[in-house]
Amino acid sequence: MKSDIRVCSAWRDRHDRPVYSLSETCPECGATTENSAPAPYNPEDPYGEYRRARKRRLAEE
Ligand SMILES: [Zn+2]
Repeated sequence: MKSDIRVCSAWRDRHDRPVYSLSETCPECGATTENSAPAPYNPEDPYGEYRRARKRRLAEE
């Protein structure tokens, strides 16, 4: 299930710790928020396919 919890996009500059919110804007500084859940992997990771292919090869040996 996708998380709806968001985090202040500017917290590193403006706060001592991440400020989480369910809204589109930070309740403390008004900056926009971004989805706090890190992507499980980067689909544009240039080495992702290489790693997966290597893993497959290892599994087949
Ligand atoms: Zn903020």
